[in-house]
Amino acid sequence: MKTHARAVVIGGGVVGASVLYHLAKAGWTDIVLVERNELTSGSTWHAAGGMHTLNGDPNVAKLQEYTINLYREIEEASGQSCSIHITAGVDLAGTKERLDFLKLACARARYLGLGMEMISVDEAARIFPLMDRKHFVGALYNPLEGHVDPAGVTQAYTKAARNKGAEVYRFTRVTALEPRADGGWDVITDKGSIVAEHVVNAAGLWAREVGQMVGLELPVLAMEHQYIVTGDMPEVIASEKEVLHCIDFEGEIYMRQEGRGMLIGTYEKKGVPWAEKSTPWNFSHELLPPDLERIAPSLEVGFRHFPALERAGIKRIVNGPFTFAPDGNPVMGPIRGLRNYWVAVGVMAGFSQGGGVGLALSNWMVHGDPGFDVWAMDVARFGDWATPAYTNAKVRENYSRRFRIRFPNEELPAARALRMTPIYDRLKAKGAVFGAAYGLEHALWFAPPGTAPVEDVTYRRSNAHQPVGAECRGVRNGVGILDSSTFSRYEVTGPGAAVWLDRMLAGRLPAEGRLALNPMLNDKGRLIGDFTVAYEGPGHFFVFGSGIAEQYHLRWFESHLPASGVALRSLRTGMLGLAIAGPKARELLSRVCRDDVSDAAFPFLAFRALEVAMVPARVGRISFTGELGYEIWMPADGQLRVYEALVEAGADLGLVHFGARALQSLRLEKSFGTWAREFRPNYTPTEAGVDRFVDLGKPGLIGGAAAQKARTDGSPRRLVTFVVDAHEADAIGDEPVWHDGKVVGWITSGGYGHCVGKSIAMGYVPAALAGASAGFEIEMLGERRGAERVAQPLYDPAGKRMRS
Ligand SMILES: Cc1cc2nc3c(=O)[nH]c(=O)nc-3n(C[C@H](O)[C@H](O)[C@H](O)COP(=O)(O)OP(=O)(O)OC[C@H]3O[C@@H](n4cnc5c(N)ncnc54)[C@H](O)[C@@H]3O)c2cc1C
Repeated sequence: MKTHARAVVIGGGVVGASVLYHLAKAGWTDIVLVERNELTSGSTWHAAGGMHTLNGDPNVAKLQEYTINLYREIEEASGQSCSIHITAGVDLAGTKERLDFLKLACARARYLGLGMEMISVDEAARIFPLMDRKHFVGALYNPLEGHVDPAGVTQAYTKAARNKGAEVYRFTRVTALEPRADGGWDVITDKGSIVAEHVVNAAGLWAREVGQMVGLELPVLAMEHQYIVTGDMPEVIASEKEVLHCIDFEGEIYMRQEGRGMLIGTYEKKGVPWAEKSTPWNFSHELLPPDLERIAPSLEVGFRHFPALERAGIKRIVNGPFTFAPDGNPVMGPIRGLRNYWVAVGVMAGFSQGGGVGLALSNWMVHGDPGFDVWAMDVARFGDWATPAYTNAKVRENYSRRFRIRFPNEELPAARALRMTPIYDRLKAKGAVFGAAYGLEHALWFAPPGTAPVEDVTYRRSNAHQPVGAECRGVRNGVGILDSSTFSRYEVTGPGAAVWLDRMLAGRLPAEGRLALNPMLNDKGRLIGDFTVAYEGPGHFFVFGSGIAEQYHLRWFESHLPASGVALRSLRTGMLGLAIAGPKARELLSRVCRDDVSDAAFPFLAFRALEVAMVPARVGRISFTGELGYEIWMPADGQLRVYEALVEAGADLGLVHFGARALQSLRLEKSFGTWAREFRPNYTPTEAGVDRFVDLGKPGLIGGAAAQKARTDGSPRRLVTFVVDAHEADAIGDEPVWHDGKVVGWITSGGYGHCVGKSIAMGYVPAALAGASAGFEIEMLGERRGAERVAQPLYDPAGKRMRS
């Protein structure tokens, strides 16, 4: 056994094997995979090996395509068969809503180049004769579905890696991980120790335990999962080609051919977690006792939808555990505060996703960047609020809804309300319909008095449409109040604070007492943040950004902090916010503070320490609504008081409460982009249209030269705003943009602009088309709706109102 290695991968399931292969392929050959037992002895060996490219996140869908296409490569590199069966697949809809969902997936696949097609029920029945067509209303045809042999794939990855110099130690268990002063790790195993520069936790069913070795509670939990294999079926035997892979969403069933019968798996509603507290170390190549009764309701639906299955009888039942994250996507990347400790865990679809996870993680380890936008898989999307109990509730929910539709306006009920601000009950009493962002309850909209605070879930405009319109008009014509605590806030202090921030952030730092919008770039010159920076006084800054990206940003900030001279802390729990916006906002603020808040004394983009309703607060004159507005930040225990004072003082001004939905409408009217939609690591500042906020020539700016080069080379895309000829549904994001009959781009967000009376969408198109206004269409719910690009914001293009 080696005593030193550049990287030790812990876990010889499909994910660890893929990481090993990709590291070796990237040129790191002094690497080791350590496996407690035989390869595949966690959840991998009993998997059904099914694979497809369906995923709610376009970036993950693309990595699933990469994974499936990789199998030929690793077969060639290893000489080991993966038993690849690309059969194509039919994904069946039994309701109009499900069909809408499939149409969206199909439309998104167009700009991703995944080649899916909507087909009729008749066509589906022609290519998949096992189905009884009367239960279905339409189908999606996916050319890239099929299955592989789980053991073959794992062996192929490891053999191919070994051919490049990697080593694999089986029957070797990692028992402890000890950090070294040089930033590496002592990997202690039952066969000796290895000094490693990097360790990768790819321990699958034991991911939590390998996390606990370094003090981590990873948000993953295993669930029992069952599939059955039928006896021989004449329909299968008679089929000229291999039977297609199939997903029946209504039956919550997936199936594929297995020998001369079919393999049918189901995600039952009453799923059962496995090893909730800790995973036994002596569990290897074992199955769990089958429980047919638990999956009987789904099987009954399956037998009705596919009558031949019932006639075939059940030959074998497999019940095995595998791990999930709270939202069902993989959990990967570096861990904030732990040098050279990487995770690739919670991969619930190892045969669709394992290759992509391995590629992205190895890129990150070798080149310092995953090379793609992996936000949907990044471990940093969870904060310390994602406790084991939270994970347990969410994983059960996710499992039970695996094949159910998540409507774009749907908020899921498990583990609510987890984090709340002090005004939660007040907002609830006002009729707030809440959503959860980064675990925090926040008002989406307010149900008018006498109506239930419940939103219809739909792809179309919901019952929130009119109330949200009233909120928007209330803001634009008077004044509105919003709990802005969903934004993150950081305090940066110390003699080196200004120099450090100037290097981290791409914009110019504000003058003392001022605010500045400030994007952040990675080394490749792509957007990884979108902040407002406040300069309080010498050596003292506040930085406000996206709340959901708190861990993501802290990880980046902290890994770039100098040894001394700069202190950084998150104020998530210590400081909360309220925003007021609208032409009467100044009047309202003046009623609750003694200071002069006139335009002369407190101009646009000013930042002041003010006493608001007796509470010491910081107030910035800025608003994401595009109106005159103020963001008020105060100690958490003062938020309720400030809120009550504002509500009382605002009564005769017609103060309205507004929520995230209204904010979305108002910002779209202004063409303001937002983090995780318009601003993501996919895009450069030039593409995102934020060049006016950056100073790429600043000495030492991270990503400055790369972004400058991209600008000079001619960045290929541009962010634009469209007015869409929509009727009952608005764009939601991820729809393809057509121009002159070709798919040329995609939508990043959309909604209805209540104050301009138009359906609005923002998205990316090729730079050459960014000046065109006509000829665009946006594909929504299976229809191509006409869209006109608008050259300037639809509301107050000169920005006079926010400066008024
Ligand atoms: C019944 C069933 C059907 C499935 N069907 C499909 C399907 O059709 N398609 C699909 O994509 N996915 C399917 N899956 C899911 C799939 O199995 C997982 O996505 C995949 O196996 C995850 O692989 P992994 O490498 O992350 O974890 P694992 O397979 O659990 O591998 C982790 C490995 O780490 C080793 N290990 C742990 N701790 C240590 C330690 N301390 N020291 C050394 N070694 C250690 C373990 O022994 C184990 O071999 C199915 C799962 C089940 C249960």
